[in-house]
Amino acid sequence: MKNESVQILDIPFVNKTKDDIVNDLYNQYLKEEKKAFIVTANPEIVMHARTDTDYLYTLSKADYIIPDGIGVVIASRLKKQPLIERVPGFELMEELLALSNEHPIRVYIVGAKPEVLEKAVVNVKKKYPNLHLVGYHHGYFEDENEEIIHEIQESEPDLVLVALGFPRQEKWIKENMSRVQKGVFIGVGGSIDVLAGHVKRAPVIWQKVHLEWFYRLLQQPSRWRRMVVLPQFIFHVLKSRG
Ligand code: UDP
Repeated sequence: MKNESVQILDIPFVNKTKDDIVNDLYNQYLKEEKKAFIVTANPEIVMHARTDTDYLYTLSKADYIIPDGIGVVIASRLKKQPLIERVPGFELMEELLALSNEHPIRVYIVGAKPEVLEKAVVNVKKKYPNLHLVGYHHGYFEDENEEIIHEIQESEPDLVLVALGFPRQEKWIKENMSRVQKGVFIGVGGSIDVLAGHVKRAPVIWQKVHLEWFYRLLQQPSRWRRMVVLPQFIFHVLKSRG
């Protein structure tokens, strides 16, 4: 990665504010029609990369790895190389959609369940009436990959939101980005579910006290299994300090 970063367990996180990241993405990539691969990474992603070497290699191809998760910020403080701020993937996506509403940025969305995506599209059109949504496809495909890539090649989006969950979304971006001429590709995880109103973001007060993850767990208790990696993550960070 070309940007100033903080390494957490071999993953280089960009150390910039959300506003600076949005400015960079607009001025250096979207406006210039340059390609970029953006990963919004939390401790689960960092831990997954330790056991999946293909995923670790995929992450090494990213232009920006964003600290989406308070666990990553805590880890940076433990390492005495504090990241400026947490940048929630959902907020980054919202900022990019707002930019697309004001500038001629063509947007494509791939991912989420068909009915959830339809709802998200309705909400996007309502909230960002000037946004040019050039296409979308749900994320439960097997044989339709060529069709989707063809559609992206034809519709030439500047911004591609990829909501297939990790590690699939990052691997999908890495595998397919070379086949298009331009586009900022960003893995947005469950953000389309939030856009659709299918999953709610935590109230601001929960976000302020850094308990957004806990609110999410209460909403989707089936995620508890994924949370057990958090203590392991902190353990490995502490161990890596030497
Ligand atoms: N998803 C998808 N295709 C799949 C698996 C998942 O489109 O084969 C979608 C899922 O519907 C959801 C998002 O990917 O919209 C993953 O959300 P999650 O909150 O699990 O994100 P993660 O934290 O795994 O990145």
